[in-house]
Amino acid sequence: MADLPPIRDVIKRHGLAASKALGQNFLLDEQLLARIAALPGDLTGAKVLEVGPGPGGLTRALLKAGAQVTAIEMDRRCLPALAELGESFPEQLTVIEGDALKLDHGALMGGEPFHVLSNLPYNVGTALFVRWLSGENWPPQWQSLTLMFQREVAERIVASAGDDAYGRLAVLAQWRAEVALAMKVHRSAFTPPPKVMSAIVHLTPAPMPESVSARTLERLTEAAFGQRRKMLRQSLKGVPGALPALASLGIDETRRAETVSVAEFVAVARALNP
Ligand code: SAM
Repeated sequence: MADLPPIRDVIKRHGLAASKALGQNFLLDEQLLARIAALPGDLTGAKVLEVGPGPGGLTRALLKAGAQVTAIEMDRRCLPALAELGESFPEQLTVIEGDALKLDHGALMGGEPFHVLSNLPYNVGTALFVRWLSGENWPPQWQSLTLMFQREVAERIVASAGDDAYGRLAVLAQWRAEVALAMKVHRSAFTPPPKVMSAIVHLTPAPMPESVSARTLERLTEAAFGQRRKMLRQSLKGVPGALPALASLGIDETRRAETVSVAEFVAVARALNP
């Protein structure tokens, strides 16, 4: 592997001024990038999907860690810089030009297991996250997700019942995955710095509870958190069978959604779909 120029120089040489419209805030600190790339564990020979590599700071750290990287980037201005990086790591990097929201990630990764790492564009981050966590097929093809979010969104993903940040995102993430807030990242770590602080969440698939349908659980949390300050007997009125299920499980119908744990939501969903 040849000595690589600092990312700052790559950005300058390829004229990659950050585009606000594309949610571009670049990470340049190689030590920080190496720490992020280490979060999923040893990546030697592992397949990794990176969304939004930009000028390639995180991509470079992943390649150095020995990963086989497939990177999806929408901004074609970044492609020459990424092609150059690929030349320094022969046969380790595949770059796909396109919109990650429109691509079939499983097929792109050849049907094989893969890790996802991404400093996500904030505007598409939550949409991709929901997609990776949704669906009846479990375990998913991905082995881990290591994702940068606005700190407030990261807190919503890892929140527990009773926390202000607790809601649909927490249940979606936690009912069949292990989640952790892996690292807080100060806004000054980015160029240009965004207005808000960031944090990285790390997820690995956990076993899916038996006899629970993802769709039923989603409907339940949609209704419950749609009126989060209302009592369950009000918010779940429109979900057939939900109130008898609460009674049979001994869950007080005067409680509010924000106090109902992930395990309790799972139990109600199971009772609706025996
Ligand atoms: N990974 C780089 C880093 O850490 O410095 C860049 C991060 S920047 C926050 C987000 C990147 O995602 C940008 O390069 C942007 O062009 C790209 N991007 C935005 N929307 C995208 C989409 N829908 N699909 C693929 N890439 C996208």
